[in-house]
Amino acid sequence: MGDMRMAILEEPIKQVLTIKNYIGGEWVESKSKKILDVVNPATQKVLAKVPVSTREEIDEAVEIAKETFPMWRNTTPVARVRYLFRLKELMEENFEELSRVQTMEHGKTIDESRGETRRGIEMVEVATGIPSLMQGSLLEDIAVGIDEFAYRQPIGVFGIIGPYNFPFMVPLWFIPFAVACGNCVVVKPSSEDPISQIKIAELAEEAGIPPGVWNVVNGGRDVVTGMLEHPDINGICFVGSTRVGRDVIYRKCGETGKRVIAQCGAKNFLLIMPDANLDRTIRSCMTSFYGNTGQRCLSGANLLVVGEGLKEHEYNAFYEKIVNAFVKAASEIRVGYALDERVQMGPLRDTEKKQRLVGLVQKGVDEGAKLMLDGRNIKLIGDWPHDAFLNPSVFTEVTQDMYIAREELFGPIANIMRAKTLDEAIEMIHNNPYGNASSIFTQNGKWTRKFVHDVKTGNVGVNIGIVAPMAFFPFAGMKQSFYGVLHGQKECIDFFTDRKVVIQRWF
Ligand code: NAD
Repeated sequence: MGDMRMAILEEPIKQVLTIKNYIGGEWVESKSKKILDVVNPATQKVLAKVPVSTREEIDEAVEIAKETFPMWRNTTPVARVRYLFRLKELMEENFEELSRVQTMEHGKTIDESRGETRRGIEMVEVATGIPSLMQGSLLEDIAVGIDEFAYRQPIGVFGIIGPYNFPFMVPLWFIPFAVACGNCVVVKPSSEDPISQIKIAELAEEAGIPPGVWNVVNGGRDVVTGMLEHPDINGICFVGSTRVGRDVIYRKCGETGKRVIAQCGAKNFLLIMPDANLDRTIRSCMTSFYGNTGQRCLSGANLLVVGEGLKEHEYNAFYEKIVNAFVKAASEIRVGYALDERVQMGPLRDTEKKQRLVGLVQKGVDEGAKLMLDGRNIKLIGDWPHDAFLNPSVFTEVTQDMYIAREELFGPIANIMRAKTLDEAIEMIHNNPYGNASSIFTQNGKWTRKFVHDVKTGNVGVNIGIVAPMAFFPFAGMKQSFYGVLHGQKECIDFFTDRKVVIQRWF
């Protein structure tokens, strides 16, 4: 135990925090009687108490954001982004603390957290380009002496609703762009891991972003309902499950006439073609299937071993080779408290999620899939409570009709499946209702071209297992993975602004 403790990086949260709301530049304690614990999933220690805020509190935050909007929209774009330059500097200065907080509250490895922090910073960096990116257009002499020009104006107040799996980065997909365009925001972090959103709001305050521009209200579905029903919220950015994104957020925004981005769930397929570089592919699969403990909308879920061009016996040998290499690599993944830099996979976010996944492993067995590696046998680096830990699992003999092959499991479970041809593999992807991401591993240009062209998923990887778009590309998604408007540099700016077209006779 002594040695193990030494391997743990210093924890930035040393005592139980009381999470407050940030409204109009003030840190205010919620009046709510409903308080939830934020628990470190690796140690099971309570890190913070987070309120389930009241309807009055969300209303107050929206009112203040609305009152602040005229001042903020009349602040010049150049002045607005100066705050973001300062924020970026503060994020760099606090990089390691921000990352360790994410590992403590979510469980992901410290390197995954560092990656998430970097991605968050990149969003701020790109948003500092707003004075160029937000520009409009002008054509002189549409008729003699008459010019026409089009430009963008901020809209008002946006609600930003985050998921638990990327507690730091995901709200930053939206906040810097919304704010740089001249809007005010009310952020609702996931109540499961809200601490890193509090930390970034503290840095926004330190950067001098004026009170009322960036507000945070903690809570769960009641706060979301409050946002959806509030007439002064102009648009909603949501990232989370399809169940909530489609059935609650998208539907309600339609009813109330709000703009909406709703990025939802996924079931991602990875294809291994016979000519793939095996070592690199298996390594990429490990991060794809087990990175972030499988709690990622871009996670690999179904691995299709494709026998294109192979004879029956060659295909069987190829399939066996992949299964053996995959199971061996998965069994070697080091699991534990992810502030230990040797750890390659952390716990699930909480005990409930672990129990759900334990049930899903059993469901796979009951459905007739073959469990080649049983992650329910817990093997950890260090002596941590097993409550939220699950090791990697691998199923083979999985068929398309099985629940484990169809639905988003959101944990460290891989299904290895067979597809005789590339056409069959693409058809299997298209039979699934989600369309978030897919990847192909091959050196063959013809197969690659066909896959990239034909596949109906928003994000596509070629010899890469996790296709997380950079801040200056759109984050796409098709079918049940996406509702509303795309987000990404240009798309975001369109989303966060109204267009105005002016026709002017000068004299
Ligand atoms: P979730 O849908 O349970 O929760 C998302 C947010 O909605 C949270 O802030 C939560 O408090 C709130 N919420 C939950 N239930 C609600 C309800 N009934 N009414 C109103 N609000 C409600 O999702 P999660 O478990 O936090 O996140 C995991 C999901 O997010 C996965 O499905 C994953 O694929 C998806 N995700 C998608 C992307 C993407 O870009 N497509 C990125 C990250 C995560």
